[in-house]
Amino acid sequence: MAEFAPGLGDTISFCVDPDWPPYEVINRSGTHEGIAADLLRLAADRAGLALALHPTRDWEESLAASRRGDCDILSFLNQTPKREEWLVFTQPLFVDPNVIVTREDHPFIADLAAETDKTLVLPAGTSIEERVRRDFPGLKVITTESEADSFAMVSDRKADLTIRSLTVAVYTIKKEGWFNLKVSGQIPGYENRLRVGIRKERAELRPMLDRAIATITPQERNQIANRHVSINVQTAIDYTLLRNLVLGFTIILASNLVWALKLRQANARLRQLSQTDRLTGLYNRTALDERLLKEIERAQHHGHTLAVILIDLDHFKLVNDRHGHLTGDQVLRDLAGILIATAGKGPIVGRWGGEEFLILCPATTADQARRLGDDLRQAARRHDFGLGWPQTISAGIAELDGDDGTDGLLRRADAALYRAKESRDSVAS
Ligand code: GH3
Ligand code: MG
Ligand code: MG
Repeated sequence: MAEFAPGLGDTISFCVDPDWPPYEVINRSGTHEGIAADLLRLAADRAGLALALHPTRDWEESLAASRRGDCDILSFLNQTPKREEWLVFTQPLFVDPNVIVTREDHPFIADLAAETDKTLVLPAGTSIEERVRRDFPGLKVITTESEADSFAMVSDRKADLTIRSLTVAVYTIKKEGWFNLKVSGQIPGYENRLRVGIRKERAELRPMLDRAIATITPQERNQIANRHVSINVQTAIDYTLLRNLVLGFTIILASNLVWALKLRQANARLRQLSQTDRLTGLYNRTALDERLLKEIERAQHHGHTLAVILIDLDHFKLVNDRHGHLTGDQVLRDLAGILIATAGKGPIVGRWGGEEFLILCPATTADQARRLGDDLRQAARRHDFGLGWPQTISAGIAELDGDDGTDGLLRRADAALYRAKESRDSVAS
């Protein structure tokens, strides 16, 4: 669409290549469409920028309009020294390898530099033209007005090769039915890194767009590209290399994605393991230490209170002595369940070590924590642990005080627990 969501600032005018499918076209109703259109719209939306299309008849006219200042940005182009004279560039919106397209009878091209007696045809004004003239001076380069004309000249034996991004080559060969054309090779290092070009006078737009572009995920890019390019080749023509290339890229992309996903899952699992107490499934000491630091920081930053409850099982040694360690373990697991169920959502429950548990209570006063402590104590007392006697707990409460850190807070909780232990089955602060 030509008009994007209204943003905070003024409207930014943009010029495009009106005839560069499947990247971008201006369709009959004057709408900007294609991979570039979708990506630019996504980036602009996320940057909160309002864009308005400045239509042109062709790419050369867009370049001229951009130079004159008739449009603030160019939607989708490679960065070149010549363009840097008046533009700054964002990070790439899209990266696409370049491939060599020849007639079907042409052998595979391993090195373009060896093709000295060949004629290369390119649409005028592309960044490839600039680079090829510099990097392959042995090639004879001729230019045409459009991409289609370049394909036609190769097909009609008026030229030997043309260079096109993989995406455009796949799309064009299929869509236009260039039956005698094929992809004959790649040019290493020749990738289209397609960026947004911003007039230097509007360079302040670059960080906004870069931040937005950084949020576009590989999945979103693939979805957008797939919407506009079908790589479903169903004719009898020899598309083997092309198909292999496309398949290769798809497989590399897919396996990278799968690998990254697996790594992420494995890392998440490892992190979870390193933070979990194996007996009870609660947070372990390491996790509690981390969370406590974080919660103290948050409390001090937001001016909240923070209370902790340190819990110790009463006469637990007796459980092990009379019923054995396995039963002791089961009592610890049962109590973990009781603490989680009674504490509810806000508090963070963990095993501090041995038969001691620590509960972090964000935005909670000592009084509120004492009430929770009492609920926990009663819940434990009511539970039948199968011991033949009630298993009781004692709890010490402390509230974050001024700017004392973890040590001060825990020391006070420990002292309170010590006081509670004097009578057992009690809560002290
Ligand atoms: P108090 O009322 O003063 O807290 O007495 P207590 O017996 O609970 O305390 P003490 O510190 O003397 O004993 C704690 C016991 O907890 C000793 C230890 O064997 C037991 N314990 C610590 N960790 C585990 C565990 O993972 N499983 C089992 N079964 N027992 C454990
Ligand atoms: Mg103890
Ligand atoms: Mg104990």
